[in-house]
Amino acid sequence: ESVTVSEFAGMIGIKATELIKKLMMMGVMATVNQHIDAETAQLLGAEYDIEVETKTVKEDDLLPQVEDDPEKMQHRPPIVTVMGHVDHGKTSLLDAIRETKVADAEAGGITQHIGAYEVDHEKGKVVFLDTPGHEAFSGLRARGANVTDIVILIVAADDGVMPQTKEAIDHAKAAGVRMVVAINKVDKPNANVEKVKTQLAEYNIIPEEWGGEYQFEEISAKNHVGIDDLLDRVLLESEMLELKADPDRPAEGIVIESQLDKQKGPVGTVLVKKGTLRVGDAFVVGDNQGKVRAMFNYAGKPIKKAGPSIPVEVMGFSEVPESGDSFIVTKDEKTAKQVASMRHDKKKEKELAERSKVSLNDLFDRIKEGEISELNIVIKADVQGSLEALKNSLLKLSNPEVKLNIIHGGVGGINESDILLASASNAIVIGFNVRPDSKAKTTAEKEDVEINLYSVIYEAIESVEKAIEGMLTPET
Ligand code: GDP
Repeated sequence: ESVTVSEFAGMIGIKATELIKKLMMMGVMATVNQHIDAETAQLLGAEYDIEVETKTVKEDDLLPQVEDDPEKMQHRPPIVTVMGHVDHGKTSLLDAIRETKVADAEAGGITQHIGAYEVDHEKGKVVFLDTPGHEAFSGLRARGANVTDIVILIVAADDGVMPQTKEAIDHAKAAGVRMVVAINKVDKPNANVEKVKTQLAEYNIIPEEWGGEYQFEEISAKNHVGIDDLLDRVLLESEMLELKADPDRPAEGIVIESQLDKQKGPVGTVLVKKGTLRVGDAFVVGDNQGKVRAMFNYAGKPIKKAGPSIPVEVMGFSEVPESGDSFIVTKDEKTAKQVASMRHDKKKEKELAERSKVSLNDLFDRIKEGEISELNIVIKADVQGSLEALKNSLLKLSNPEVKLNIIHGGVGGINESDILLASASNAIVIGFNVRPDSKAKTTAEKEDVEINLYSVIYEAIESVEKAIEGMLTPET
């Protein structure tokens, strides 16, 4: 934003000491390293008959602006999240992959938990996010961080599609992320693979062998069966996505985990998205900054650099970063500090500014202003019948100005997962004869998600209809 006295002296070719004298005569007490504002600089310039042009610096002016050069783009490994119903084997699958594919390769097999790990498979590298589940997935997405390239949807063959399976499907679909299906627990005597496939087909997840576009693999996470084939499928899927990044540019990434470590101080796991991160790099992260003092890979081994898709634990944050924070390497520490302080100011402004998430109250205005052309809705109802009735009636409300999308509909109370999905997709939540649980309530407040509760179907439809048509009288 501003320049120091000595920098300004250099710019206009006058000794700093003389400038300081001049400033004193103007009634400003300054030292060499003190910053002067635009107005002072202009006044000073006038003293020497120099016209000083000032310009407001924007964040983008300070951050490296590198256009993706198709020539320099290189393949990057896919980043994978495992999702599915509780007890269907998410943790067991992540463990099985780590045990069969990682432990032997790394020194002593000591793996630490940094939120992600790498797997070297015959056909390529795969990166797994270690926190399974759609809450973690949409939690990051609500922070604006889309890190997952592929979702492994795990369904237990003895249990079939369950409520959280459906949640996972909707979360992945809302994010537009491709899925590979792992049918787990095929070792169990009551496993019924065909039934799982039929159930998933109801959600339009149809296996390739049935003419669909989803890859399925039958596995037993417990017995480590089918793990290699599953990884093959993940890599095949990733080939189709043509994941590419330029490793030869300043790094950008996302913080996926962080903590205050007793020995290391504030540490965070950064998933590099573009470029190569190196020890010594200055960076801005959220509205903080730092300099990479050391980096460790998922096995706790110190490393000097990390390229696209690679998770690294970074030491050198000025404060503990937040998961979901974007991480951008800057040309030097001074720039990082400048951007961090600009972001800090902006954040404060935003906190003061009005709500930005969608709400039925201001929907009409925002549609009229062209700000919103789609209304995403999450519906929870007490019974399937009401859910279907609501869904069908709401979908009919779409008009040329605004399209309604039901991104998730389920039977049962409003839970945290619903709120995170709504937050990540800027959706409103409608509850019919159900209530949010306490966790959902706190998250909704924190995430600024609107929950609308009804006990008469007609009222629910009418209030959305009125909101769309601008007839809703604003509540006060
Ligand atoms: P999560 O809740 O999805 O993370 O599920 P877990 O990985 O904790 O697994 C739940 C239970 O299912 C545990 O008791 C596992 O041992 C068991 N389990 C997981 N995978 C398999 C499998 O392939 N076969 C059998 N028989 N049991 C499994």
